[in-house]
Amino acid sequence: MNLVEKDLKYIWHPCSQMKDYEELAPIVIDHAKGVMLYDENGKDYIDVVSSWWCNLLGHCNPKINAEIKDQLDKLEHVIFANLTHEPAIRLCEELSKVLPAGLEKFNFSDNGSAAVECALKMAFQYQYQTGHQEKKRFMCLSEGYHGETIGALSVGSMDLYAKIYKPMLMDVLHVEAPDCYRCPYGKCRDNCDAECFEHAEKMFEQHAHETCGIIIEPLLQGSAGMRIYPPVYLKKLRALCDSYHVLLIADEIATGFGRTGKMFACDHAGISPDIICISKGLTGGYMPMAITVTTNEVYNAFYADYNEGKAFMHSHTYSGNPLGCRAALAVQKILREEQILEKAAVQAEYLHEQLCNALLDHPNVGEIRHIGLINAIELVSDKKTKTEFDSSLRMGYQIYKKALANGLILRPLGNVLYFNPPLVISKEEIDEAVRRCVASINEVL
Ligand SMILES: *Cc1c(COP(=O)(O)O)cnc(C)c1O
Repeated sequence: MNLVEKDLKYIWHPCSQMKDYEELAPIVIDHAKGVMLYDENGKDYIDVVSSWWCNLLGHCNPKINAEIKDQLDKLEHVIFANLTHEPAIRLCEELSKVLPAGLEKFNFSDNGSAAVECALKMAFQYQYQTGHQEKKRFMCLSEGYHGETIGALSVGSMDLYAKIYKPMLMDVLHVEAPDCYRCPYGKCRDNCDAECFEHAEKMFEQHAHETCGIIIEPLLQGSAGMRIYPPVYLKKLRALCDSYHVLLIADEIATGFGRTGKMFACDHAGISPDIICISKGLTGGYMPMAITVTTNEVYNAFYADYNEGKAFMHSHTYSGNPLGCRAALAVQKILREEQILEKAAVQAEYLHEQLCNALLDHPNVGEIRHIGLINAIELVSDKKTKTEFDSSLRMGYQIYKKALANGLILRPLGNVLYFNPPLVISKEEIDEAVRRCVASINEVL
């Protein structure tokens, strides 16, 4: 049996209908460098999805590799209760310099969903221990995505992932999210005052008394199709949370570390959440690591004599893994010393321009929205009416298959094709990726 046959014999791939693999066999990636992946036959693919949005500074980045190799011979892992180590301490010190103000206490886990679960439990227990036992529920935005464990699914609202499990999930309050492409108020992102915020206001009036926290993806609802909304929404939400004593939980798992053009999406609005979840780009896409960071105010609600029973009894075996911390430290160093965000801003402008030049006039391209290097191409069957393609046509998937053949990883979100490349992508690589993308679209539409 060759590798592909053995793969199909043993492996249940994530987020896949395995029957699809009958006509689209898994591609065996042998090695990678920068934004390029190479399969076992030597064919190259441009990784414009950053290997599920986590690869920040290119594959096999020599500086990150060197840090991990150095750590490997010192300490690979150690229990993180009572024991500690320099890489974790230094990492928190570095992150506290770049995180939105006031986020100073770091609770480690090992994937994004786990960081969200941690945030939810933290918010609930904070309210409980500060005399707000009645605040038991959560709010979230419609079309939100926060991961796939039971708690994280509960505060998500994408039927694609959650529908079947609804009987297992928490009863969460869903606030209608901004929908800027099809804005019901007839506004556009640059000239609105977040009129749609009235939904949040109404929900808070009715339910804030029983709500401990609201979780959101700031500015960019990633899994929903890279839906982008303006910073004024976040400003209003921060103020609303303050006036109703509801914790604001920012899930920056996808948006953190320069993806939106600033270090964190919250920075566009100049706000700080009470709790932030970070993962994905944190280690540059090398090691599974996530952190839930909060304020001293939240932290202090748990700080008491042991017998008062206020401790946060939450743990993960791999909390604070030293290899992950060293990778994350390397990422912070590179971001700072090589001025990655400044350089990425130039490429971001270039990428958007190239995509617009090539595709904006296409009859099936409704919008090309962008923030940072992230660009989303909304495919529609009718541009004027903004009518969606019937999902059974799997239009995004058809183009994705062509793109794979053309050497481009363009895994879509329904009818949305997107670029979310490593921040270090070059002009030449952008040119080639856009060329392969346009060719793939034109083969289908
Ligand atoms: C990816 C993602 C998660 C989940 O992270 P996992 O590591 O896949 O569990 C949660 N929230 C957002 C916004 C994400 O993009």
